[in-house]
Amino acid sequence: MSASHDELDSRAQATTAQVVRWRRHLHQHPELSNREVHTAALIADELTSLGLDEVRRGVAGYGVVGVLRGGLPGDRVIALRADIDALPVPDLCGVPFASHVVDQNYPGGPFPVSHACGHDCHTAMLLGAATVLAGMREKLPGTVLFVFQPAEEGPPVGEKGGAREMLAEGALDDPEPTMAFGFHVTPYPKGYIGYRVGNQFGASCLIKIGITGQQVHGSTPWMGIDPLPAAGAILTGIGQIYRQVSAFDPVTVSIGHVEDVGRFNIIGQSVTLWGTIRCSVEADMGEVQQRVRTLAENSAQAYNCSATVEFLQDVPAVHNEQAWMDAALPTFRRVAGDERVVPTGATLGYDDVSEFVNKYGGLYVTLGVQDAELNAEGMPVPVAGGRGLFMNHNPHFYADDDTLVTGVRLHAQVAYDHLTGVIVPK
Ligand SMILES: [Zn+2]
Ligand SMILES: [Zn+2]
Repeated sequence: MSASHDELDSRAQATTAQVVRWRRHLHQHPELSNREVHTAALIADELTSLGLDEVRRGVAGYGVVGVLRGGLPGDRVIALRADIDALPVPDLCGVPFASHVVDQNYPGGPFPVSHACGHDCHTAMLLGAATVLAGMREKLPGTVLFVFQPAEEGPPVGEKGGAREMLAEGALDDPEPTMAFGFHVTPYPKGYIGYRVGNQFGASCLIKIGITGQQVHGSTPWMGIDPLPAAGAILTGIGQIYRQVSAFDPVTVSIGHVEDVGRFNIIGQSVTLWGTIRCSVEADMGEVQQRVRTLAENSAQAYNCSATVEFLQDVPAVHNEQAWMDAALPTFRRVAGDERVVPTGATLGYDDVSEFVNKYGGLYVTLGVQDAELNAEGMPVPVAGGRGLFMNHNPHFYADDDTLVTGVRLHAQVAYDHLTGVIVPK
């Protein structure tokens, strides 16, 4: 551990109160994907006040990219990424700064809005890291990009957005990163860093199945075509698709929303099913999509209906290479402590940080933020007297303020170690 590492940590410690303030403000004022107007303005204003070399606003909607050029010669460029959007989930996490926001105008809404995925923490922690690194710019050999990404949770259907759109707009073309890094807060013991070599998160896509029949009065179904039995057959069939793919590489297909335009005495013209496919192995995605399509089209036909099947918002798997992980583990252990850096299982969640990590190389890990401990099997369990364990996207999901500084240190130390040639695949 060098003097610079010490300085990074002490500067991170000094940001604690401000990072908590940012986090609480963002938590209380969450904004849904592609509507992060005030969140982006706060980020851009703070980055500007830090005196960064460049602050790019309005990237792919409400994305912000801050550019910090170090004072020492160096070709490496680290992209630190935080996602900034919230979810259409009520806030039941029980803190005084809970959200009471309702978005009246969002497509499909109105929705209660909350940071049930913890992106308020990601945003505040990356602002903290920007404060730390800007304060040490004369000692940095290379460039840091602070990438604040909108619409990680997926933009409304029909809108573009997220990581892929940021790349398409060339937001990271100059200078191009030599490493991308990010992490996600999780229901894991506070201050623990979880890592996985291979696929950390699965490949994902959104399914939209439109089934069309012929509208008719509910008393005379034979005079029309009822699309609901076809929808039921598709729903049942989808529950079997995982059995057609190797059980050693998990796949899930779920329909979460059924949209019907009928009424109790009107058989509607159409039904729309919305769902998601998750594959632990990316190569399975094409086959699963084909099976969903075949199932939907043929089930619809069996009930005299027609079906259209669309796969939208595909997100590639988040893949961590062994060589990158080997290079970074000593840094993770220095930040969290040896015993708090633990390998974790794969999940079928998704994160479009994969667009950055796949393109530039780098890593994505998890950071525990809840009152938990690991049991003998290494699984997180609640601690007595704590607030319990709640998954991301649950209305009760919470993240304790006292882990925020660990996230600031993690970003800053990884950035410094990449720029100085410590975290590079060998
Ligand atoms: Zn999420
Ligand atoms: Zn998230």
